[in-house]
Amino acid sequence: MQERVRALNQATINPKASFVLYWSQMNRRVDSNHALVHAVNRANELGLPVLYYEALTCTYPGANDRLHTFILEGVPEQARRLRQLGIGYCFYLRRRLSDPNDVLYRLAGDAACVVSDDYPTYIAAKHNASVPQRLGVRYEVVDSSCIVPMSRLEKREYAAYTIRPKIRRLLPGYLKPCPAVEVAHEWTLPVPAFHTEVTASLVPSLVAACEIDHSVRPSISFTGGRLAAEKALDGFLERNLRRYARDRNEPSAHATSGLSPYLHFGQISSLEVALAAQRHASEHDLIADEFLEELIVRRELSFNYARHVESLASLENLPTWARQTLLQHADDRRDPSYSYEQFEQAQTHDALWNACQKEMLLRGKIHGYYRMYWGKKIIEWSSTCQAALETMVHIHDRYALDGRDPNTYTGILWCFGLHDRPWQTRPIFGSIRYMSYEGMKRKTSVDGYLREIALLELTGQDPLRIA
Ligand SMILES: Cc1cc2nc3c(=O)[nH]c(=O)nc-3n(C[C@H](O)[C@H](O)[C@H](O)COP(=O)(O)OP(=O)(O)OC[C@H]3O[C@@H](n4cnc5c(N)ncnc54)[C@H](O)[C@@H]3O)c2cc1C
Repeated sequence: MQERVRALNQATINPKASFVLYWSQMNRRVDSNHALVHAVNRANELGLPVLYYEALTCTYPGANDRLHTFILEGVPEQARRLRQLGIGYCFYLRRRLSDPNDVLYRLAGDAACVVSDDYPTYIAAKHNASVPQRLGVRYEVVDSSCIVPMSRLEKREYAAYTIRPKIRRLLPGYLKPCPAVEVAHEWTLPVPAFHTEVTASLVPSLVAACEIDHSVRPSISFTGGRLAAEKALDGFLERNLRRYARDRNEPSAHATSGLSPYLHFGQISSLEVALAAQRHASEHDLIADEFLEELIVRRELSFNYARHVESLASLENLPTWARQTLLQHADDRRDPSYSYEQFEQAQTHDALWNACQKEMLLRGKIHGYYRMYWGKKIIEWSSTCQAALETMVHIHDRYALDGRDPNTYTGILWCFGLHDRPWQTRPIFGSIRYMSYEGMKRKTSVDGYLREIALLELTGQDPLRIA
């Protein structure tokens, strides 16, 4: 456990405190959460209860109905599980810019120490860099996002083939269930005044009351929260794990897990998913290796990247060969060349690309195989690589339920050669891997996918909705 924990300030424990505060920023779950376990252990040592604090503010970049809905949908079940365990819960919905912005600091004033999530991107990374110095109590972060703690991989890894042997060597020590939460001192204090009560039926009106971008509608495919995450996992194990290796690159076969939104918001842990996949595979005489490669090796390569770079979305982080080849082809003619708005509104000449973008607009995620095609074509049809990068990041920030994740940046930069190798040289791409429409037609059922997305667009409903 110790290799998961980092103290981010020098402050001491407050001996006169009323509770230990767990500030859940990214791992919004009760089960399989090493940070919550650490907070409870600290509280037990100090003879105190734990307060689980979770916030949703109108001010984060790109705050919109889609992201807000997904997070709020998780709150009622979270509250129920915490109550069962004897842990206090404060969910603060900052609806308006004029609402208080110092709730964490006020709660921390009564806390013996603050425990939070160690997470290398987005707001959590910013908070963890600035908040600890402004608190008068000890601030510790815990890595509950990765199976092999990020701290065990001390250097930035070059590619999957360099991180894979290290992960394989360390994995037996970490691929074990997270210890159970055992609360010695139940929460009996009043619910903090800032708490917002959330029920499933209240979610739409709470979202409507927030000063956020209401033009990005909730996903038609994903309901947020622990129960939906568990349902997605069970459905995947039952129906898809056995065909994952064969069908995962055929988008209309729907053979992947669809878990990335739940993993991103921490509503389920990759550890639980990996253990469940392993167990299911052994009970049913299946092989889960291909799935575990994506879930562990590829995903943790992304966290390794995010932890070791200064700026996440930067072409400077590409390997030298990729930077050089893109530079050599920087002046190659782009024809067609689309604006951000044309990409965003799915208005290119390519029906498959437009369908991918519509999947993003409607579902909040694109199937992994077509997501590569989507990214490669943005490079081909943007005026510069920098413009292509910004388009991809912006679309993810705004629409992707699994966006703003370490995987977002490595996925996007993979299209520019990150974690990949040189291929045959061609215009615009140089020796960066190229993907063609003909290739997609040969390898996948483009027509089936086009029909599926057209139906989603027409009906506004997804028969595969996880609810
Ligand atoms: C341009 C581009 C952008 C991407 N943006 C994101 C993003 O914003 N968020 C995101 O989670 N993934 C992103 N990916 C990676 C990948 O496409 C998704 O993780 C995957 O499609 C999620 O669907 P799933 O949960 O059904 O995956 P499954 O195939 O069921 O895999 C299970 C889990 O393994 C992990 N995983 C799968 N593929 C990859 C991969 N190539 N790299 C790293 N981890 C992987 C994910 O956590 C995923 O949820 C991106 C890829 C590309 C090419």
